[in-house]
Amino acid sequence: MEMKELKKHVRTLATLPETDAPVISCYLELFNGKIKSRDTYKELTRAVMVGLSEQELYNVRKAQESITEYLLNNLLPDAKGIAVFSRAGDDAFFLPLQFRVPLPNWVSLSSTPNIYHLVEMKDTYHRYVVMISTKKSARIVEVNLGEVTAQLWQERKDLRERVGREWTKEHYQKHSKERGLKFIKEKIKILEQIILAGGHTHLILAGHPTMTSRVRNELPRHLLEKLVDVVTINAQAKSVNAVEATIASFVEAEEIESQLVAELLSQKIHTGGLAVAGAEGSFKALKQRQVDTLVLLGNYSPGPAWICEICGTATVKKKRPDACAECGSISLKSFDLKEEMVRLAEGQDCLIEVVNDSEALVKLGGIGCLLRYQLQNGCAG
Ligand SMILES: [Zn+2]
Repeated sequence: MEMKELKKHVRTLATLPETDAPVISCYLELFNGKIKSRDTYKELTRAVMVGLSEQELYNVRKAQESITEYLLNNLLPDAKGIAVFSRAGDDAFFLPLQFRVPLPNWVSLSSTPNIYHLVEMKDTYHRYVVMISTKKSARIVEVNLGEVTAQLWQERKDLRERVGREWTKEHYQKHSKERGLKFIKEKIKILEQIILAGGHTHLILAGHPTMTSRVRNELPRHLLEKLVDVVTINAQAKSVNAVEATIASFVEAEEIESQLVAELLSQKIHTGGLAVAGAEGSFKALKQRQVDTLVLLGNYSPGPAWICEICGTATVKKKRPDACAECGSISLKSFDLKEEMVRLAEGQDCLIEVVNDSEALVKLGGIGCLLRYQLQNGCAG
C-alpha cells in the first residue's frame, strides 16, 4: 500500500462520526497468508466482549462476523500484518488494510476506531527511494510501508558484452572508465528528477560497494542531505531482498529523526518556546487546534481520562473526578486518552512523531506538542 493511500484511510478513521454501535479495531500479525496465532485472536476478541449488554453484544457479534469471514477468505500470501475496523448497526462500517510490515496482535472495542498502531507504522516505515547499483545494472525504486510500490527507472549496462567482442582490450578499458563515470552522472540526474517530482525526503543507496561509493562521491549536496544510508548487497540478490536490506536501516534513521524532534520539543519547553508537555497540556492544545506536531513515546500509556455525558467537558486526571467541574454532573464516562489524542491529531492533519527511546521525552511525561501559536488561557476556542 502506498503512503498517500494509508494517509487517506487514517484520516477517514480519525474523522468517522460516532454512532450507538461500537467499532471493533482488530490488528493481527500474519504469516504465510494466515493469522499467526489464531488462539490469540480468539482470546483478544473474547476479552473485549466481557460485560456487554444483550443489545451491545448483538452489534458487536455482527461486526466480528464480518472480520472473521474476511480473515478466512481474503488474506494476501505476502502480507505480514492486517488492521480491520468493523461496525454493525444502521451506519455500518468495514475497512480492512493489509501490509507487508508486521503489526501487533491487538483488539479493542470503542466508540471510535483505534488508530494508534497505524499511526505508529506510518511514522516508522514512511516511504523512501532506493537506488540499487550493481556492476551490470542500476535501478531506482520507491518503497512505501516496507514494499516496493514503483519501479521508477531501470537500465542495464550491456555495453561490456558488446565491446568485448568487437573492440581491442585496450580500447575497451579506456572507454569503459569514461563510460562508467558518464553512466553514474546520468543516473544521478535521473535520481534528482525523480526525487524532485515525487517530493521524496529520504534516499538509500544499495548495491555493490564499489558502485555505491562511486555514486555517493558524485551526489550533489542536496541529495547527500537526503541520504539515509548506504547498504551493501551481493550481486545475486533479488530486488525484494535488496529492499528488505534497506528497511532496517531506514527504520533506524527514522528513530533518530524522531529523537531529534523530541529534543527540539524539550528545548522549546525549557526556553519558553511554542510547545507544551504532559497529558493535560497536550490534550488542551489538541482541543484548541493549536498543534503542529504531536510527539509521544511508543510505550506512552496515560490510561483513561473522563468525559461528562451531559456537557461533554473532558477531564484529564488519573483518578475519576467526583463530578464534572463544568456542570456538576456525576455522569462521567472514561475514554482512552492516548487514542483520543492521536485521533484528534490525525483529524487535524498534525504531524505525529512516535519515539521509541528518548530520555528528554520521558522527563516531559512521555508526550508533548510543538505548537503553531501560543495557547490561550481560559476559555477553549
Ligand atoms: Zn459536565
